[in-house]
Amino acid sequence: MSRVYNFSAGPAVLPEEVLREAADEMMDYRGSGMSVMEMSHRSKMFESIIGQAEEDLRELMNIPSNYKVLFLQGGASQQFAMVPMNLFKNRVGDYIITGQWAKKAWQEASMYGTANAIASSADKTFSYIPDVSDLPVSENADYVYICENNTIYGTKYKTLPNTKGKDLVADISSCILSEPVDVTKYGLLFAGAQKNVGPAGVVIVIIREDLIRDEVLPGTPTMLRYKTHADNNSLYNTPPAYGIYICGKVFQWVKKRGGLQAMKEYNEKKAAVLYDYLDQSCLFKGTVEKKDRSLMNVPFITGDSDMDALFVKEAKAQGLENLKGHRTVGGMRASIYNAMPMEGVEKLVAFMKEFEEKHGK
Ligand SMILES: *Cc1c(COP(=O)(O)O)cnc(C)c1O
Repeated sequence: MSRVYNFSAGPAVLPEEVLREAADEMMDYRGSGMSVMEMSHRSKMFESIIGQAEEDLRELMNIPSNYKVLFLQGGASQQFAMVPMNLFKNRVGDYIITGQWAKKAWQEASMYGTANAIASSADKTFSYIPDVSDLPVSENADYVYICENNTIYGTKYKTLPNTKGKDLVADISSCILSEPVDVTKYGLLFAGAQKNVGPAGVVIVIIREDLIRDEVLPGTPTMLRYKTHADNNSLYNTPPAYGIYICGKVFQWVKKRGGLQAMKEYNEKKAAVLYDYLDQSCLFKGTVEKKDRSLMNVPFITGDSDMDALFVKEAKAQGLENLKGHRTVGGMRASIYNAMPMEGVEKLVAFMKEFEEKHGK
């Protein structure tokens, strides 16, 4: 068996301990004689898997009791529709456009009402987070929406927007569990699992109870109502059971590593190795304003697309995989999620140095 260092933005690297445990339990989950994949989602065993997963996530993120935790399907992208369908009362949402995922959410919401772009960093290809201290929040906005860590562009909010009393909705797909979070500052948070938590097919929604309403937009399908899933503890229909099981193992792994404060410290150390190198390199250059840099996704370029392509190719030959930047941005991007070990980042930087010595002028 040989594993590579996988810098993919998602689906992304998972902890080896988790994969090994899942492999051990594949044929016979704890004496059940079957895999979790084959197990009834109504069984006692699965109830305990999903129950434990929720309990561990609540503990890790310090989620208050007036918030529901839902394990749903449809990916993060389905939340772009579920949010307005369920939260629109005045049919007005204020969106801060910091990249493609925020833009997609904004476009989706505009199908159901008025979606205002109240700030944007499109003018500099989303290389920074706009000043969000005094935004023109609409008086009748049902919420203010952000994408907290911009997976494609590598920016992250260091301070949350001043929403002027409106509920904050955040897509935290690529930063969930990477650092401590104050859930009380949000009305709703959601994250696709495949970046920092588990396999694709699960999306985690954390929603304050008063936002789970009977009165949703007319025509909202049963499956797209938060209430449907909240009333049934995510077991209204068959949930993404195997995915939830793996998420649960990752929660346990994060707990064992010391929780979110410990993850943050480790992530900061890892990111510093790469950013410090980028800041002194004559060949490679980070593309993001320093104050807004993400701990999870690090885009960089040489400024020469042929050189970029050569780097990606040669890195791959060294077991450093998936370093090609997003197809809309070009260059490179190293995603260094929780499960990426320090050794992976060190090996990447060592290879970048070698490459620079060979090809830099
Ligand atoms: C990957 C990603 C998405 C899209 O997730 P899907 O599960 O593919 O729908 C949305 N938002 C962010 C921030 C992402 O990183």
